[in-house]
Amino acid sequence: MSRVYNFSAGPAVLPEEVLKEAADEMLDYRGTGMSVMEMSHRSKAYDNIIKEAEQDIRDLMNIPDNYKVLFLQGGASQQFAMIPMNLMKNKKAAYIVTGQWAKKAYQEAQKYGEAVKVASSEDKTFSYIPDCSDLDIPEDADYVYICENNTIYGTKFKELPNTKGKTLVADVSSCFLSEPVDVTKYGVIYGGVQKNIGPAGVVIVIIREDLITEDVLPGTPTMLQYKTHADAQSLYNTPPAYGIYICGKVFKWLKKQGGLAAMKEYNEKKAKILYDFLDESELFKGTVVPKDRSLMNVPFVTGDSDLDAKFVAEAKAAGFENLKGHRTVGGMRASIYNAMPIEGVEKLVEFMKKFEAENK
Ligand SMILES: *Cc1c(COP(=O)(O)O)cnc(C)c1O
Repeated sequence: MSRVYNFSAGPAVLPEEVLKEAADEMLDYRGTGMSVMEMSHRSKAYDNIIKEAEQDIRDLMNIPDNYKVLFLQGGASQQFAMIPMNLMKNKKAAYIVTGQWAKKAYQEAQKYGEAVKVASSEDKTFSYIPDCSDLDIPEDADYVYICENNTIYGTKFKELPNTKGKTLVADVSSCFLSEPVDVTKYGVIYGGVQKNIGPAGVVIVIIREDLITEDVLPGTPTMLQYKTHADAQSLYNTPPAYGIYICGKVFKWLKKQGGLAAMKEYNEKKAKILYDFLDESELFKGTVVPKDRSLMNVPFVTGDSDLDAKFVAEAKAAGFENLKGHRTVGGMRASIYNAMPIEGVEKLVEFMKKFEAENK
């Protein structure tokens, strides 16, 4: 068996320890004589799995009691519709467009009400985070929407926008559990887990209880109402049971690493190795304004698309997978999520130095 260094943006690298544990429990989960994949989601064994997973993420993020944690399906993309359907009471919301995912959410919201674009960084290919300290937020906006870490462009909000008292809704798919958060600053925090937590198929929504009401857009399907899932503790219908089980294992792994403060420190150390190299390299350069750089997704280019392609191919042959940039931006992108070991980044930089020397 040989494992590569996987720099994929998602689905992405998972802790080896978690994968091994899951493998050990594959045929017989703790004496039940069956795999978690095969068991009823109403069984005692599964009830423990989902309850423990919820408690562990509550511990990690210090989630207050007046927030629900929902394990849903449909990916982050389904939230682009679910959020306006459930939260747009005044049929108006403010969107900050800092990348393709935020833009998709903004466009989807237009189907259900008036989505107002209050800031954007599209003028410079989303390579920075706009100043959000004094935006023109409509008086009757139901919420302000952000994508906190822009997976494709590699930018991150280092400071949350001034929402002028409105509810903040954040897509944190690609920075989930990468550092401590103050949950009380948000109305909704959500993300697909396949970037930094677990297998594709689960989306976690952390939502303040007063936002969960029956007053939703007329015609909203039962399955797309937060209340349905909140009332049933994420067991209204069959949940993505195996995926939640793996997420639970990752939560325990994170606790063992020392929690989110320790992860932040580790992630900063990892990202610094790569950014420091990009800042001194004569061949490679980062594409993001330094102050807005993400700790999770690091896009870079050589400035020559043929050379970029050569780099990606040679890196792959050397065991560094999925370094090709998103199809809309080109170049390269190294996603260095929680489970990417520091050795992976060190070795990548070594490889980049060698490539630079050979291609001067
Ligand atoms: C990947 C990603 C999405 C889309 O996630 P799906 O689960 O595929 O719908 C949305 N937002 C962000 C920030 C992402 O990184």
